[in-house]
Amino acid sequence: MKKIKIKNSSREITIGKILCVGRNYAEHVHELGNIIHEKPVVFLKTVSSVIYSGDEIVYPSFSNDMHHETELVLLIGEDIKDADSETAERAIAGYGIGLDMTLRDVQSDLKKKGHPWTIAKCFDTSTVLSEFVEKFSHQLTLDETISLKINGEYRQKDQLNKMLHKPVEIVQYISSLMKLEAGDLIFTGTPKGVSKVNSGDKLEAELDGIVKLECKVR
Ligand code: ZN
Repeated sequence: MKKIKIKNSSREITIGKILCVGRNYAEHVHELGNIIHEKPVVFLKTVSSVIYSGDEIVYPSFSNDMHHETELVLLIGEDIKDADSETAERAIAGYGIGLDMTLRDVQSDLKKKGHPWTIAKCFDTSTVLSEFVEKFSHQLTLDETISLKINGEYRQKDQLNKMLHKPVEIVQYISSLMKLEAGDLIFTGTPKGVSKVNSGDKLEAELDGIVKLECKVR
């Protein structure tokens, strides 16, 4: 069982399932040569792949092209199903920043074969999480910036309002497909600027000074 920590609190929350939305920033969709879908692309990551700020990301032996994807992560605070937008809004209890580490070479291969992305997305240490903040302590306006630095240099830096599908819409949509439960996390997609990481790199991700994480690649 893995937990998330709430910032400035001793409270910890057990993680339920981890859902991810792909292709949610137009410029990132184009940099990978993909097309924009009307509905969000949804996939899962495993809870066992979760690590935290200060931990090491470990390059798996079956890839030479691990990419960083820096993302706003939503924390679901109540059980919902087929939510309307008001219920979806209320169900978002807080948020953090996360890295959806992705094996781009493996993923390209899987895409070509029409296979699921699991092997490219669920390797051990592939999901890095910051502490989370509760919604009432800082209400998101989506004017906030998420960013990632590698060895001190910005690689990703974009405003959340560039998301094609906004948090409430994502939660509402996923709740129409499956039950969402308290403790579930939703990665909301990455902005442009994804690139390969190498052993020894230091990654620092930040959501406008609200939450941050840092880790090294082994
Ligand atoms: Zn992602």
